[in-house]
Amino acid sequence: MVVNLSEQYSLLCDWISEIRDQEIQLDRMRFRRNLERIGEVAAYEISKRLPFTDKEVQTPLGIATAKVLTNQPVITTILRAGLPLHQGLLNFFDKADNGFISAYRKHQRDGSFEIRLDYISCPELEGRVVIVSDPMLATGASLVKTIQYLREEGHPAEIHVVVAIACTVGIEYVLREEPNCRIWCGAIDDELTAKGYIVPGLGDAGDLAYGTKAQM
Ligand code: URA
Repeated sequence: MVVNLSEQYSLLCDWISEIRDQEIQLDRMRFRRNLERIGEVAAYEISKRLPFTDKEVQTPLGIATAKVLTNQPVITTILRAGLPLHQGLLNFFDKADNGFISAYRKHQRDGSFEIRLDYISCPELEGRVVIVSDPMLATGASLVKTIQYLREEGHPAEIHVVVAIACTVGIEYVLREEPNCRIWCGAIDDELTAKGYIVPGLGDAGDLAYGTKAQM
């Protein structure tokens, strides 16, 4: 399942426009905050598909039967670029557990790269709803590797992937490898360059959020 959150016009379209805009990108705080807001909207939309349970709540005037989320999800992000989206998801799923994975592209001399997972910190995932965030779904390689790792750690009940911008081939690859995962995107672009950048995309999301890094 793929949901394009900007298919129905909303404020989210404004935020997507801002994170793509190279002038507005100069304001790193705004870039991070916009990713966070996209994470908040994704959390709200995902919550509509999760089970809720009745709960009696004592108000100052009586007893209300309220609906509360039955189980808290595990929000997992790919460092470092996923952090603002992660924070947005956590702002709304404020009782969630959290996992962190560092995945990076190890570049070869011929221009190709492989994805390596490094630092991993994760709670128990058995039977849990797991939400994985990464701002850019480009080739899909790091997301698939991350999801495969998470599956080895337990059997999540559901896996949701939240991205700001996805490209079509990346979505196809993730769904081919992980047909049951649900992908929530802020926008979908058609082109992917040979170096794995989405076009028009927005550039390097990690650098735009946190500054450029030395090439490893
Ligand atoms: N990661 C990014 O930050 N940008 C892209 O376009 C693709 C992957």
